[in-house]
Amino acid sequence: MRILVTNDDGIHAPGLAVLEEIARQFSDDVWVCAPSDNQTGAGHSLTLSMPVRLRKHSARRWSVTGTPTDAISIGLKQVLDSPPDLILSGVNAGANLGDDLTYSGTVSAAMEGALAGIKSIAMSQVMKQERPAWDDRFAAARHWGPRAIQPLLDAPFELRTLVSINFPCRAPEDVQGMRVVRQGFHDYDRSSVIEARDPRGQRYYWFGLDAIEHTPDHGTDLEAIADNCISITPLQLDLTHHASLAGLAQRFEGH
Ligand code: MN
Repeated sequence: MRILVTNDDGIHAPGLAVLEEIARQFSDDVWVCAPSDNQTGAGHSLTLSMPVRLRKHSARRWSVTGTPTDAISIGLKQVLDSPPDLILSGVNAGANLGDDLTYSGTVSAAMEGALAGIKSIAMSQVMKQERPAWDDRFAAARHWGPRAIQPLLDAPFELRTLVSINFPCRAPEDVQGMRVVRQGFHDYDRSSVIEARDPRGQRYYWFGLDAIEHTPDHGTDLEAIADNCISITPLQLDLTHHASLAGLAQRFEGH
């Protein structure tokens, strides 16, 4: 089994090394093609306004001066001589839950893999700013990752679908199990924008990183993580809201 590993935190990110380790438990044909720099928040963007460079670090380890989507495209078209059986993206340093998904470069790399017809799994480790008592920030993903991937290996993935996995910010022995759940939504209070002034007196802005308070809906990824469980969520690339199609079509009749 050939596995292609990527991420959005960049080729030097510790979470990528964790995922390479996990991948090697399933195969000795593991390839890496990841962004050269941190691309967190890149979403599903594709670099169209500048050239993209490909750098070889070793025979099966490559980086791309672009987005996670660029890394998958170039990995599939330029680096690998035959397509992988599996794409793993992550392990992201931070959650990709609820409405985070469309901002996420980690999930978007797996989306790109799914569009290419390859079984693709995104993996994210929920984190807090302070260092946890159990020291290894990726402990839950490192320990539980192989157990979360194993049942997916022979599961059929429908065309243009993928799976996103989040590991709770707990020591491995405190993880309460794995739950297959739908995507939830945060309360929309993420938008704390912090204004400050640079040394020349000009305003600049940072998006706030404060924890988002919410009461998660039942059966969602947010609830699973709040309950110290691993969330496993199947996603689809078809963003159509099918229930709205007929009603909306009626409004266009005769126009
Ligand atoms: Mn990231």
